[in-house]
Amino acid sequence: MSYFRPEIEAMAGYVPGEQPRTDDCIKLNTNENPYACSPAVVEAIRRAASDRLRRYPNPMAEPFRQRAAEVLGVEPDWILCGNGSDDILTIVTRALVGQGQLVRLPYPSYILYKTLAGLQGARSEEVYFEPDWSLHDVFASGRNDLRVVFLANPNSPSGTMIAPERVLEMAERLPCPLLVDEAYVDFAETDCMDLVARCERIMVSRTLSKSYALAGLRFGYVVAQPHLIEQLVKVKDSYNCDALSIAGATAAIGEQAWLAENRAKIVATRARLAQAMRKLGFKVVDSQANFVWATHGERPVSPIFERLKQARIFVRYMNYAGWGDGLRVSVGADEQIDRFLEELERIV
Ligand SMILES: *Cc1c(COP(=O)(O)O)cnc(C)c1O
Repeated sequence: MSYFRPEIEAMAGYVPGEQPRTDDCIKLNTNENPYACSPAVVEAIRRAASDRLRRYPNPMAEPFRQRAAEVLGVEPDWILCGNGSDDILTIVTRALVGQGQLVRLPYPSYILYKTLAGLQGARSEEVYFEPDWSLHDVFASGRNDLRVVFLANPNSPSGTMIAPERVLEMAERLPCPLLVDEAYVDFAETDCMDLVARCERIMVSRTLSKSYALAGLRFGYVVAQPHLIEQLVKVKDSYNCDALSIAGATAAIGEQAWLAENRAKIVATRARLAQAMRKLGFKVVDSQANFVWATHGERPVSPIFERLKQARIFVRYMNYAGWGDGLRVSVGADEQIDRFLEELERIV
């Protein structure tokens, strides 16, 4: 006999990337930013810690909404904040998807979407990316039990992007919301934010974890038309963002010059990393994110992953059932990438 719902018993559970405990390693496995966040963020958190902890935080993270609205060119009531964008994905799934209904996601992509569907007792339908990382029209086909479609754009693990015009075209054909997960979009050349006003089915989620170097703060948000936000609000925890994260995130979103500088460094290192890996015989997909996806024509990559790990260099080995495997390497600081490439050259 089990105390738990059958769908919970049947689930594997989401497994986050390894967080090795010691500081003697090079960590290129969870797409964290290798650089420290803006000092303005730390200062804002320090100030909040000294005078805001006694009271409950603003339930809607209003200071952040105001500031983000100016930066994004939308009204504050188009924004809903979450405890990381994973919280946003949870809220969206819980609000839209009931037991036995259908969630669609691309494959291979962010594994959490399927986990969230599983928690709802919903079914998920995986549409494989084409060999060139585009999506077939099937991704936009209507089915009457389809409740939400997830699209990581840029995608993980590939770092590739579906062009905004194509996203719009697909959303217009879908019978349900399309959640465009823009966790990595600050490293890309385009984004889908403008589409939210043009098509009510498009919701765009973002996070401060990667491009703002604040994975430990836990802050993300979604932009959608206000009548959708109004429904999503009912599903969230009353105080899903704490006082310190609201203060830090509000300062961070105001630091657009810091963001541009950080982005430029990472984009430059990304190009160097991809080129060097190609020279070593890897096939590396052109990336719009802060990581690259690499496979190798002649040799299996799993032993390469193990050898790197022995050298205290952590990358992410991904093995997608029915599809294939590869290495996802986060763009670290230049010295980290130099060490990685040295070790990689020794191995191959
Ligand atoms: C990292 C990541 C997220 C989650 O970010 P958090 O804000 O840290 O929860 C969401 N989607 C994708 C595709 C990611 O890679």
